[in-house]
Amino acid sequence: MPGSFRVARILGIDIRIHFSWVVIFLLLTYILASSELPRSWSDTKQIVVAVITALLFFSSVVVHELAHSLVARRFHMTVSSITLFALGGVANLTKEPSSARAEFLMAAAGPLTSLGIAGALWLVQRATPSLLDVQDLKTTTPVFNYLVYINFAVALFNLVPGFPLDGGRVLRSVIWGLSGNRSLATRIAARGGQIVAGILALIGANAVFLEGDSGGAWFFVLAYFLFGLASAAIGQDRITSAVGSVRVRQLMTTDFRSVPTATSIGQLIRDIVLPNNLQAIPVVAQGRLVGLVTIADLRKVEQAEWPTTPVDAVMRPASELATVSPDDELVAAIDRFGGGDVPLLPVVDHGSLVGVLFRDAVVGYVRMQETLGLDARR
Ligand SMILES: [Zn+2]
Repeated sequence: MPGSFRVARILGIDIRIHFSWVVIFLLLTYILASSELPRSWSDTKQIVVAVITALLFFSSVVVHELAHSLVARRFHMTVSSITLFALGGVANLTKEPSSARAEFLMAAAGPLTSLGIAGALWLVQRATPSLLDVQDLKTTTPVFNYLVYINFAVALFNLVPGFPLDGGRVLRSVIWGLSGNRSLATRIAARGGQIVAGILALIGANAVFLEGDSGGAWFFVLAYFLFGLASAAIGQDRITSAVGSVRVRQLMTTDFRSVPTATSIGQLIRDIVLPNNLQAIPVVAQGRLVGLVTIADLRKVEQAEWPTTPVDAVMRPASELATVSPDDELVAAIDRFGGGDVPLLPVVDHGSLVGVLFRDAVVGYVRMQETLGLDARR
């Protein structure tokens, strides 16, 4: 996640903090100090205990994510890091679970761990009267109460069956396991995520507009992100199932225009860009890709300087370009196009430029597959 920094390393996994977490940490500390802890305490005591309680809470979020991560590792998935951000924690996996069983165990591990933490803290709290004197108990009791309550709440919220919440992943793994159809399972679980987002928005609206509780705005933020993630999962699944196991080789264009380094921009525009209506042209030297020049790059140069400016001066160098190989799956290529403005990906095989993959060709292919798929189902 961009905008995050490493704070620790546990069991070989980086623990990172996103800057948005600082906001939620301060907010939680404020809420704890002002409304959860006894008013009879001094301001200093309220703040110190609130900070410690907030840190303990976020530690239990890290333990929740570590539980997901350790199960993921058990199934040979690499966990690069755990990031704390405004909406809680997330374990960053480099790939999706390969079986329904792996996903079920991985997803269930988190809420079960939160339940376990809540239970363990509750037991410790029951034991404290025999260990501490009355004065200390007055300090520890509200902290324990809050941590038991919040870990229980985290477990319950995460068990709600809406993807990508843990409960949604559990639901997906169960449908996937029963039907053998991962795509169907993703669609149902993600619809669940959209529905849960809708319910959260209603809860937020009720709190803000009917009860006048501005804290309810938080539900809107949650609803917004959950809806976005669930919708993205549906979109991703549509593409993945339309594209199937097609390789880049089947859609790439081998009859394409490229331009040697040192060609002037004027010559490039006159001879190649205008007659062929091209948006981007690979720059080559002895058959090797050295860069890509787009219309946007060309527009940065004043027209008077076109005849004297070589393409190398404005191109994006190959080292900064996303490329694909002919044997890459189309799904991976779609990933590499990303949300950027690049109209094509150079196709490189053993260092040589062998073709280009046009974004339009991929989009057209996906649409065609969907149309045919819908007709086939009727
Ligand atoms: Zn979780």
